[in-house]
Amino acid sequence: MQQFELSNLERLMIKRKIKRKKVIRAIIIIILIAVLSVCGALGYSIYKNGGKLPPKQLNAKSLTSPDYVDVQLINQGFARTGVKLVEINNIVIHYVGNSGSTAQNNRDYFNKLDTDVCSHFVIGLDGEIIQCVPLDEKSAASNNRNLDTISIEVCHPDDSGKFSEATYQSLVKLTAWLCDNSGLKANDVIRHYDITGKECPKYFVDNESAWESFLTDVKTELKTY
Ligand SMILES: [Zn+2]
Repeated sequence: MQQFELSNLERLMIKRKIKRKKVIRAIIIIILIAVLSVCGALGYSIYKNGGKLPPKQLNAKSLTSPDYVDVQLINQGFARTGVKLVEINNIVIHYVGNSGSTAQNNRDYFNKLDTDVCSHFVIGLDGEIIQCVPLDEKSAASNNRNLDTISIEVCHPDDSGKFSEATYQSLVKLTAWLCDNSGLKANDVIRHYDITGKECPKYFVDNESAWESFLTDVKTELKTY
């Protein structure tokens, strides 16, 4: 009978083949464990949440507005539904469209039983800021974007829709704070017009350069954070 002798090279090749197989097997096992762990964790959280996907953590550092904001939350009703925001992707600027009305007038209007519109904030003619809806709840101002935006209504003295200097400064300050609080940039600030084409906020739609310089002012303010 002839003895089958392997050469050194052949032996080395076989060893390498076995080693490669072992490595591949280990990688497959690691991937399987990882996939099973993720599926298990997801399945458990769905089970814990009554069969539904758990809600995402809202991207807001704080749900408490700065001291300069006068918090006067409106009652729950048609306008404030209490539905939670899923995420904050944009800050939407509006104008109230009712010349000479104050922040308090608009907040009280939102609070009426039969009103079906409201914004998170209203900025008044003297720069005062009233908060009407909590930061983690849906407002009713920006059509199909209510679920992932924060809305600011801004008062104006006349039909041009131009804001007073005090109003404008408050708008820049609040918008920058909201951007910082939600991890957004100045470019994430949009007009109601950018969502629906509605002439709102009128002055910033009629004067594109005024809108651009507003965004620049927000960007500058954001640098102080
Ligand atoms: Zn609007």
